[in-house]
Amino acid sequence: MDPFAAHERKCRTLAAEMAAARARGGAVALAKTTSNLFRHRDRAGARRLDVRRFNRVLRVDPERMAAEVEGMTTYADLVDATLPYGLLPAVVPQLKTITIGGAVSGLGIESSSFRYGLVHETVEEMDILLADGTVVVCSRRENADLFFGFPNSYGTLGYVLRLRIRLVPAQRFVHLTHRRFSEPRKYFEHIADLCARGAADFVDGTVFRSDELYVTTGQFSSQAPYVSDYTWMRIYYQSIRRKTEDWLTAKAYIWRWDTDWFWCSKHFHAQKPAVRLLAKWGLNSRTYQRIMRLAHRFTRDSGGAESVIQDVDIPVGNAAQFLEFLFAEIGIAPVWICPFQACDPAVKYDLCPLDATGLYINFGFWDVIPTTHEPGHFNRKVERMALELGGIKGLYSTAYYDAETFWTIYDRERYDELKRKYDADGVFRDLYAKCVARK
Ligand SMILES: Cc1cc2nc3c(=O)[nH]c(=O)nc-3n(C[C@H](O)[C@H](O)[C@H](O)COP(=O)(O)OP(=O)(O)OC[C@H]3O[C@@H](n4cnc5c(N)ncnc54)[C@H](O)[C@@H]3O)c2cc1C
Repeated sequence: MDPFAAHERKCRTLAAEMAAARARGGAVALAKTTSNLFRHRDRAGARRLDVRRFNRVLRVDPERMAAEVEGMTTYADLVDATLPYGLLPAVVPQLKTITIGGAVSGLGIESSSFRYGLVHETVEEMDILLADGTVVVCSRRENADLFFGFPNSYGTLGYVLRLRIRLVPAQRFVHLTHRRFSEPRKYFEHIADLCARGAADFVDGTVFRSDELYVTTGQFSSQAPYVSDYTWMRIYYQSIRRKTEDWLTAKAYIWRWDTDWFWCSKHFHAQKPAVRLLAKWGLNSRTYQRIMRLAHRFTRDSGGAESVIQDVDIPVGNAAQFLEFLFAEIGIAPVWICPFQACDPAVKYDLCPLDATGLYINFGFWDVIPTTHEPGHFNRKVERMALELGGIKGLYSTAYYDAETFWTIYDRERYDELKRKYDADGVFRDLYAKCVARK
């Protein structure tokens, strides 16, 4: 069957399911196969809407340099569909199981974001399932309020079922360079300079200590003298300390962080040679996610440790200060560094409270810290410091803001307007209620 006809049929069925769920009353929540969410889920009593079948790439259009794709498609499937055309989504979040809908509903990022912005800036058009069961098209011209209000709304205004996204040319290989710095200010100045000059196709960084900071550039190439493989015994993040340059296939570059979930595979002993030798099939973010979900189901939080899983965006001028704070007060390493800036500074997305004219640094730090403090002690510190330095944190992981603080960051008036227009009966949860931890 024509994929678009099949898609239309699925939309009609889902719209009917939505209407039925609504008639039964109560909130509605998504049922998906994968999830990269790291916060509580209060779905008690919610009607689960099964969207798993919205996982197909509908069309890759090399003429228009665009792909039509269903909302729950993983980036792994999307990249597999576009690479044969010599194309890639302009921004590909670095875990294979992240879905395009999840990335647009939050703030999806990767090492091309200094050039193309966050994932939502690469979207041209979306079909969104609203609370009343209708599906509406939105773009810069049509239902523009929904189009600009949707990013970072985390499924509280509707669910995206289809998107048209921008593709960019790719080549077969990526040439990497890893340059070491020992002084944070010089390090961030260098990153800002690389981004301003557009000196590479990709820029990200890894910080191991406050005096051991690496910036990695990636440049597409049609040829390579050799290619490295980090999908089994070798570990990508460790190679950064040892090598000054490297070569990967374009696909291996895109998924370089997936094999070891950046470095978080250490929690599953997956960096031990014996485990890697026997468990090649399981070295990926999908396996770690599953283990983590099972562990959460069967173990009780006995205190004594706090999970600090955060992505924080800080203006580049304050990045060195944030890093200093991270090492002094939180003590997590390594830290992932990813610069980004708005692709079109004239465009405003209502729920993305970032200065569209400036360069930001995304700090990714994910670990468990031993603690004798009250729950949330370290996460609260991170939130306070991010605010103080003019930054924000990703809402995919635990947040502790009180409502008043939260709504000084996000535009309540605008959000309420959108909510009144697109979900007047509150079928989907409110952004604060959904994203912030219960006290
Ligand atoms: C170690 C680690 C590394 C990470 N690396 C990256 C990275 O490199 N780049 C990056 O961008 N992010 C990264 N993240 C964060 C991750 O991308 C976010 O959690 C993202 O929101 C997950 O997307 P998902 O598709 O798994 O969505 P889910 O976890 O399934 O959902 C996330 C939220 O979006 C909503 N949602 C999902 N699908 C839809 C839809 N179709 N319509 C409307 N709402 C929807 C859900 O209701 C939920 O609230 C990382 C996180 C960790 C812990």
